Amino acid sequence: MQAYQELFDLQRTYFLKNCKNSSASERKQKLIRLKKWIKQHQTDISDAVYRDFGKAPFETHLTELLVLIKGIDHTIANLPVWMQSKHIASPYFLTGTKSWIRYEPKGQVLVIAPWNFPFILAVNPVVSAIAAGNCVILKPSELSPHCSAIIQQMFSELFDAKEVAVVQGGAEVAGKLLKLPFNHIFFTGSPRVGKIVMKAAADNLSSVTLELGGQNPAIVHHSANLKTTIERLLWSKYLNAAQSCVSPNYVLVHRSIYAEFINLLKQKLEWFQSVSKQGYQMTGIINDYHFGRIKKLAEQCVDSGAKQINPFRFDKEKRQIQPLFVQDLEISNPLMKEEIFGPLLPVIAYDHMDELLALIRSKPIPLALYIFSENKRFIKEIINKTSSGTIMINDTTLQFANHKIPFGGANHSGIGKAHGYAGFLAFTNQRSVMKQNSNFSLLRIFYPPYTAWKQKILNFITWKI
Ligand code: NAD
Repeated sequence: MQAYQELFDLQRTYFLKNCKNSSASERKQKLIRLKKWIKQHQTDISDAVYRDFGKAPFETHLTELLVLIKGIDHTIANLPVWMQSKHIASPYFLTGTKSWIRYEPKGQVLVIAPWNFPFILAVNPVVSAIAAGNCVILKPSELSPHCSAIIQQMFSELFDAKEVAVVQGGAEVAGKLLKLPFNHIFFTGSPRVGKIVMKAAADNLSSVTLELGGQNPAIVHHSANLKTTIERLLWSKYLNAAQSCVSPNYVLVHRSIYAEFINLLKQKLEWFQSVSKQGYQMTGIINDYHFGRIKKLAEQCVDSGAKQINPFRFDKEKRQIQPLFVQDLEISNPLMKEEIFGPLLPVIAYDHMDELLALIRSKPIPLALYIFSENKRFIKEIINKTSSGTIMINDTTLQFANHKIPFGGANHSGIGKAHGYAGFLAFTNQRSVMKQNSNFSLLRIFYPPYTAWKQKILNFITWKI
């Protein structure tokens, strides 16, 4: 604990001296060096992630490096504008004053990352924190040790620990770090641990961003393009072996197209599986615990009467699970009760909008809601009558990749937003400044005594103009 306290104290001194008022060009230089390092070590990064859970290097490049680098580029290009103080008009009754917002770093921040996209989910928040001018302690996941090691190597080669430090370890280490009075804590992980983080943050009144998970619904309307819908849903279950916070958790298909959907799904599954034999590298499940958990969920689901749409295939040694789609399951099935975080997907028929809404609303607000439809009225109605952190229409997952829109959940699926400008703001204290004219103030007329005449003016200003 003492070592963490010492590191924290060192960062405090360093922050006040070197970071608090750092310029846009200084921060940009840091991000440029970071990007260069990532480019030079891209193979080492992909290898590390492959060693952690057999993720295809191509997938690491696509889902982690591409999205991260485009986010860094966007931040570098826009940082001077984001950082610039913004002048704000004063209301007329404050005539004589001037107001503006300064975008100051929050100070010292803690980033706690998960294992499922182990590189981007650790580095992306640090990019936003550096852009906003903070000092950072990052704790990557203990479940992806090879990736965590390369992240540590990267930051220790690029930064003094007084500015960005990586601390490795699991829940115990995170618990010790959480005792320190950080100005902000950015946590990505499960809602269960999110609650622990928020309780710990309360002790120091640290602000938090919580990027959590949940049960994401996908709705397929009868107007949807079934061919592309199925392809896209299938890919979302292959990608990262669906160990993704934005992966669909269940699909609701309108009964009028249900049979056609299932038939097409079977055909597409065969096509995907034949393609995967031609060199597609299937990402493994992170560890034996999660492999066992997903396998048990699949088996329980089938044992309790659900029907498999395709055979359940897995390779225990490689910890690989082929996506399994199931139908005819009760809403009370365990598969419908939790975030699956793996390549299983229940497909459920719905008849009416009310039924669909009742099911979605019976669960905590999801991180993502997917609508497959060509019907604008249907799309609008779903959007108006539901809530979620993000919405994607006619595809899944890609909303994570656009750094120009905020990313994050609501309540159970998260608090606060990340990526691009939203990420910059998460680590920024929007400090309001107001300057009064030293010679003149309109409000002087309201100084005591509070006469009837002054009350009349006050009434007039309040209600008439
Ligand atoms: P997790 O909550 O188990 O762990 C996340 C981090 O918290 C790890 O670094 C871990 O060491 C740390 N941690 C574990 N126990 C802790 C404790 N008691 N106190 C403090 N820290 C503790 O999550 P995970 O298994 O790594 O990731 C999967 C979860 O993360 C899923 O629920 C998924 O939906 C969510 N997730 C969300 C996003 C998002 O952007 N919203 C992205 C990826 C994953």
